[in-house]
This record gives sequence, C-alpha cells and structure tokens, in this order.
Amino acid sequence: MSLHTPTPLLKQARQALLRNEELAISAVEQLPIELCPGLLKDAFKGRHTRIVKAMVAAWPFPCLPVGTLMKTPNLETFQAVLEGVDMQLARNFHPRCLRSPLKTLSITGYILSEYDFNYLPCCQRLWWLKHLTISGVELWALNPLPLRLLLETVAHTLQSLDLQGCRMEDSQLTVLIPALSRCTELTNINLYDNDFSAPILKDLLLHTDNWSKINGEQYPAPMECYDDSWCIDTGRFLHLCPELMDALRAKRQAKRIVVATNICRLCGVRCVYDLGPRLCLCWQ
Ligand SMILES: [Zn+2]
Repeated sequence: MSLHTPTPLLKQARQALLRNEELAISAVEQLPIELCPGLLKDAFKGRHTRIVKAMVAAWPFPCLPVGTLMKTPNLETFQAVLEGVDMQLARNFHPRCLRSPLKTLSITGYILSEYDFNYLPCCQRLWWLKHLTISGVELWALNPLPLRLLLETVAHTLQSLDLQGCRMEDSQLTVLIPALSRCTELTNINLYDNDFSAPILKDLLLHTDNWSKINGEQYPAPMECYDDSWCIDTGRFLHLCPELMDALRAKRQAKRIVVATNICRLCGVRCVYDLGPRLCLCWQ
C-alpha cells in the first residue's frame, strides 16, 4: 500500500482490521505506516483496547497524539494506551533498538481520574520527556504527588511545561514547587488559568533560580485580582502584577514574562501584564 492509496481503501482496511482483532494484533508490526494514525483513532473510538495497546506498543512515530484521542474519556482505553507505552519502553532495553523514549506527551481537554493520574510517573517511557502538556484537564481535586514525581523524574530533560487550565490551587502548587525548581532545562512554562494566591505564586517565582534557560513564562494573575463574583479587580491587578515581576527580577533575569487573568466573561479577552498592563476591552 503506498502513500497514494485512495482514502476509501484505507478506510476499508481499517474496518477489516477492527473486525478481526487477532489479525490486527498479529499484523501490528507490519502495518503500513500511513494506516497507523487512522487505525489507532478508530480503535480508540471503538474501545478496541487490545488493538490500542498493541498499536501503542509498536507505534512507529516519535510522537503519540494522546490529546487528540481523548475527546471521549474512557478509563479502559486510556489504561491500554499507558500499558502500550510501557511495553514499548520494555522493548527499548534490547540493543541499540532504534525506538526512542517519548519526547512529547500532550493530554488536552481530558477528564483524568486519580487512577490515570497515579499511573503517569510509573510509565518509564515518559522518563525522558522534553515537552509535557496537560492542559484543560482539571486537577484541582487530585493529589498532585504523581505529577510531582513525574516532574522530578524529567527535571533534567523537560524543556516545556504547559499546565494551562488545570485549575490547580495553592495546596497543589506548594507540592509541585520543589520539583519545578529542579527543572533546569526549562525554556517555556505556561500556568494560565490556575487558581493560585499571590504569596504562593511569589514563592514559586522565588524558587526558580535554576531556570537559567527560561525564555517564556506565563503565569495566572493571583486570586486576589478577582472580587467575590469572579470579576477582575483592576486596582489589585495593577498593584499585584508588577509586585510579582519585581520579586522575580530581584532573583533572576526574566526574558518574556506575562501574567494574565482568566478570559473575561464579558468581553472574552484577558487582562495581561507584561511590559505594562493591557486591560480587557471592558476597561478600555
Ligand atoms: Zn472584559
């Protein structure tokens, strides 16, 4: 089958494989590379967990598109993905196999259970991650320890960390700060849309001396910048943001640092503070 195979034929091939799980699993190593993304997607959607596991274990690309698969959360299929990741790692212990550890993990807009979350630091395939995105995944109710363990493990490889929209709170950031402070290779971090108070955010910034390679930093405006009805209190915003930046700059250099509020419910724009304030449309 070549790259120019008509799409309907690829679709038929995928459907035939999904109808015959045993055949699909036994042929997984020989599958034409162009068949893999679509077949994994279909297998994931149809909850063919055995095929999902076998395919992830034999995945031929350096990047696994977990985020795009997670439109329909399902614990069993997610578990199958993680088990497949583990199996691929186990294979890598055989010589100079050409497969490399996962460099990028992106989980977006998925409902992670405590069980899923606990599994992450156990996946050896993830221990050399360079880019970690867990965004739009609500973590406020979860114990942050597994994430701390994963961050500690990847502290010497991780270059970008995106935890936007996780709605984490002070108690969780407090647990993560020691691990974050060890991420010496970090060049970009995004913590927008989490719910941290000014003292805890300041505490994080004061523990980032090791971030000598950091280029871009995006932090959420502290909780003190909102009133009781979650509307932006611009007075506090204009007072607290420069205070945070001054605290950071007294500690180390910062190339591009941005503090931003949640998206304004009225105009759909964030209040942003970088070189100076840029308020949402309601205040202009
Ligand atoms: Zn607004």
